[in-house]
Amino acid sequence: MIAQGQDKLVICKCCGSDACYESEFTTQEGPINTWLCMTCGFTSNTTMTKDGEALKQTLELTADMIRDLRQDHDGLAWFPTCITMPDKGMIFPEPLKGEEEGDWKWTVVKAIDIPEDEQEKYPNPNEPGKFYKKRMDMKNLKRYEKLEFMDAAEDLGMFDRNLIEGAH
Ligand SMILES: [Zn+2]
Repeated sequence: MIAQGQDKLVICKCCGSDACYESEFTTQEGPINTWLCMTCGFTSNTTMTKDGEALKQTLELTADMIRDLRQDHDGLAWFPTCITMPDKGMIFPEPLKGEEEGDWKWTVVKAIDIPEDEQEKYPNPNEPGKFYKKRMDMKNLKRYEKLEFMDAAEDLGMFDRNLIEGAH
């Protein structure tokens, strides 16, 4: 996809904040707009119409938990985003357990270096003979409230590269 013009901030349809990134892309099927709110972390685009193919595919590929958090605004479906940056880490919505069962928060997991003498335990399935140098440190999770997506993204270091590229 090719980005056109400049990203701009608009009012979020989900949480009402003014920190929702809108980007316009040109695709073979025509222009589409995408949104990612930096306050609530919800994302959508103009292909996410009810009964549309893109939404059908998303529903098939998405975990139940994320599907359950779906919001519909102006005929488009919005979902919490999941971000994976192999060098930096991940952000994803995580269901809570225990007393907070049924609720969720943003979880940040950071990528950490794998010591050289342990790298052979982490083969890269896409590149036979190569090994990962970083892994996700699942033991050190950090949780953020639903409207603290920006803090989670900052924690991950998302802002020293293209924001929207990192969001896919
Ligand atoms: Zn929002």
